[in-house]
Amino acid sequence: MKSHIFGRSTKGALPVATKGDGCYLIDADGRRYLDGSGGAAVSCLGHSNQAVRAALHAQIDQLAFAHTGFFTSDPAERLADRLIENAPAGIDRVYLVSGGSEAVEASIKLARQYFLEIGQPKRHRVIARRQSYHGNTLGALAAGGNAWRRTQFAPLLADTTHISPCYEYRDRQDGETQEAYGLRVANELETEILRLGPDTVMAFLAEPVVGATSGAVPAVPGYLKRIREICDQYGVLLILDEVMCGMGRTGKLFACTEDDVAPDMITIAKGLGAGYQPIGALLTSAAIYDAIAAGTGFFQHGHTYMGHAMAATAANAVLSEILDRDLLAHVTTQGDKLDAALKAQFGDHDNIGDIRGRGLFRGIELVADRSTKAPFDPSRGLAARIKKEAFAAGLICYPMSGTIDGQHGDHVLLAPPFIIEDAQIDELVGKLSTAIDKALA
Ligand code: PMP
Repeated sequence: MKSHIFGRSTKGALPVATKGDGCYLIDADGRRYLDGSGGAAVSCLGHSNQAVRAALHAQIDQLAFAHTGFFTSDPAERLADRLIENAPAGIDRVYLVSGGSEAVEASIKLARQYFLEIGQPKRHRVIARRQSYHGNTLGALAAGGNAWRRTQFAPLLADTTHISPCYEYRDRQDGETQEAYGLRVANELETEILRLGPDTVMAFLAEPVVGATSGAVPAVPGYLKRIREICDQYGVLLILDEVMCGMGRTGKLFACTEDDVAPDMITIAKGLGAGYQPIGALLTSAAIYDAIAAGTGFFQHGHTYMGHAMAATAANAVLSEILDRDLLAHVTTQGDKLDAALKAQFGDHDNIGDIRGRGLFRGIELVADRSTKAPFDPSRGLAARIKKEAFAAGLICYPMSGTIDGQHGDHVLLAPPFIIEDAQIDELVGKLSTAIDKALA
């Protein structure tokens, strides 16, 4: 049957998903797929959560949409209150949007407007990191450091430059301590700020645990603290993108609390709506909000669907499930089991160089040679083959090619629902192993 949907790929028809059942998706032919990556770290509660379902049913009988130019709503207010109650110190206000890219766009515009309002109009530059992904809209794409995605759309909008990511497996030198490595790469930020001119830099943007482009790579301890110090020293805002790693994915509601840093802004999305509704949010410090409130009193930004009552209702139900059912503890326990199962299965594998991550956010990196860490030749298309073989075996996982920047190996990102049980962890690792063996054959 011809599909009139214009999607990501124009090649080949996709199976039709018809039903969700816990950690599984079911297609029109009745095939079941274990969702080992929550799509792309989205479906944190699985696919048939009854509390979210009941909340959405109740809300649609009351109110679906009231434009935020005229009204606020109980679900939106409740959501903002609850997010702030649980946010890192200093975070005080919430700007609701419909997804991750919108949240990142809003953060860049808010940073710019903040500096205009406080009389520092020269500050317009963003510093981010190579290999990073912060969204696909033009501003977020410009901020991201993923060469493969950027190149074809150049010249891009924002004035962004990129420093090294904190990528221990690839970049920590022999004999260098983790701490020394963290300080070395963090100090690149200072060098870059000085190179650009401190009075021109407005923000540093980074994921605390890097998701899609690198496969669940946490910053080493101390790295983000040093980044915070440098930002403070030069009056640069620290924006942490937790679109993928936030909302409990790492075992903390906000991943950065593990690193004990207080950012000026945090972006969240994916797990916030958990796939039940499209929603994202930009969380910001009181200082930024207050400066605008004391100035023009108007953030020059907005989207029609921001603060949508159904989306906020879903997010409230998701937050209640995570916090009231103590799912964060379950994420940590099951995350440790997933890590142990991956290490048992792949620890000695000739072509797996690194197994990493936090909570239920894990990655494995494939290499042609473990001793040199040499990646596979990109022409082999290993990531795409693993994705295909896993799908054929009934597993959804998120492989990504190292060809993105040509610098690192193909990897597989795993981000299963927080409700995953032991037997499903075994199923996930078993199917992944089969898929990798077939893809390598
Ligand atoms: N930031 C990060 C870290 C992401 O992983 C993503 C999505 N993969 C985005 C931003 C963009 O989010 P969305 O696809 O919801 O626009």
